Amino acid sequence: MDLNQRKKQIQDRIAELTGNMQKISHDLDQPLPADLEDQAIDLEDDEVLEGIGRANLQEVRLLDQALKRIADGSYGICQKCGDPISQARLDAVPYAQICRHCASPD
Ligand SMILES: [Zn+2]
Repeated sequence: MDLNQRKKQIQDRIAELTGNMQKISHDLDQPLPADLEDQAIDLEDDEVLEGIGRANLQEVRLLDQALKRIADGSYGICQKCGDPISQARLDAVPYAQICRHCASPD
């Protein structure tokens, strides 16, 4: 995968995550049901949704930083040892900042 394809992969992922977050915030905006028991279930759901929302937001930030690294030419280079990060690792984690070796030194 070349850098342009990688950039598109990251942008698509950001669009997907942003879409998810919009759905989540829409769900969170729903008024609580009148029934107390339903309310309790609804509030528990909201906590789960907020957790997902936070995780999504964190990933979007990381992906956004990856796009900046593509722009400045430092993408795909381990920020610890300077070696190239393997394509397989970038396929799985497109925002990876360090190589597999530095991520789990053994
Ligand atoms: Zn490294």
